[in-house]
Amino acid sequence: MQTVSLPSVVRGRIDRACRKFIWSGVSSQQKLSMVSWHNVCKPKAIGGLGFKSLTMMNRALHMKLAWAYATDSIPVEILDCKVADFVDENGSWCWSSFEQYLPNNIIFQIAALHPPSHAKGMDTIFWAHSKHGEFTTSSAYLALSGYNSAAEDRTWRLIWTWKGPQSMRVFLWQAFHAGLKTKAELARRHLLTSTCCDRCGALCEDALHALRDCPLVKQFWLNIIPISERQGFFNARFHHWLHSNLVDDSRMGDVLSWAVFFGFALWRIWSIRINKWISWHPPKWPWCTLNTDGAHKSDEISTAGGLIRDHLGRWISGFGMVIGSCSITVAELWGLYKGLKLAWDSGIRRLKVETDSLCVTQLVARSSVMTNEYAPLVQAIKDYLKLDWHVSIVHIYREANFSLLGT
Ligand SMILES: [Zn+2]
Repeated sequence: MQTVSLPSVVRGRIDRACRKFIWSGVSSQQKLSMVSWHNVCKPKAIGGLGFKSLTMMNRALHMKLAWAYATDSIPVEILDCKVADFVDENGSWCWSSFEQYLPNNIIFQIAALHPPSHAKGMDTIFWAHSKHGEFTTSSAYLALSGYNSAAEDRTWRLIWTWKGPQSMRVFLWQAFHAGLKTKAELARRHLLTSTCCDRCGALCEDALHALRDCPLVKQFWLNIIPISERQGFFNARFHHWLHSNLVDDSRMGDVLSWAVFFGFALWRIWSIRINKWISWHPPKWPWCTLNTDGAHKSDEISTAGGLIRDHLGRWISGFGMVIGSCSITVAELWGLYKGLKLAWDSGIRRLKVETDSLCVTQLVARSSVMTNEYAPLVQAIKDYLKLDWHVSIVHIYREANFSLLGT
């Protein structure tokens, strides 16, 4: 690949397999690509995922070869010459001494340069696309992909430094690229004829409607957003809405920033919207229900969240928290512990806890003393369960858990 240009058919097939893998998880299955391959292959700083296009990589490696030739294989006749040696006594380019070595487009570029003189110092070969003038394949690739530091957009930096799991960052990246499979987006690609929202009948289900304005989702935001801030929140256009909330690092309670909660909530709203979920049923009066959930990716920050609703399915309280680096079970235990604390502090005395973690329900039900990593949290949970209230913990299907909206 460094010396030979791969046939376009081969490059195309490999690139296509990569595209399929990104959108479906396997290289053999075709799925709808919601963000163009061109954008996917851009550096992260200008809106891509940083994937390498084989076509551009092939060209960048050829440029490496060309650079080596330019620096090591200069024709013997002109090996020790300076650029100023190709200028005649009148200060003009002496074309007959070098034009045979260069292609026309380079000749035209030289014609536009002011001829140098011996008085202006030594000649230097300089690679314009790196800081120190040295050629690197990565800088050649960036140059081919159209990258320049002036084109960097703070939005992308905001996404890739957002303090949540990588899968949620990719979701946010997709949202910024208008890459969510809303009915409006699918209709724009001629894959659907109707853009109507299936849930409320609104004429256009675009990303803003799905994530903010659809009545059930809007009710969720109304329960959280203070009255004084609602106008700005609900009137903002989509990109401004995402950006202004993801940049908002103000604290939400003592557990997490608004930006983290906002990104987490968007991801959950979208997950619930696109998945068929098993209906959530409100508890009987006077009970309330707490749904908790934890999220974890290896080597990344784990998060947990919870939601308390009453017998009519009304939102009473909720929380989200960034935990740190831990296992999914620890994240689930943290979610249960914080949820119990929130319910007790809210004055609830009959609580049904729903969790999709069978491991958590078993750990809490165990009567024997534990000495593992879960022991401190399990003990803290048991301390809450001993208080003067009624709590039942049940395991439910993941699809029914943490339904922010309920049905
Ligand atoms: Zn709707």
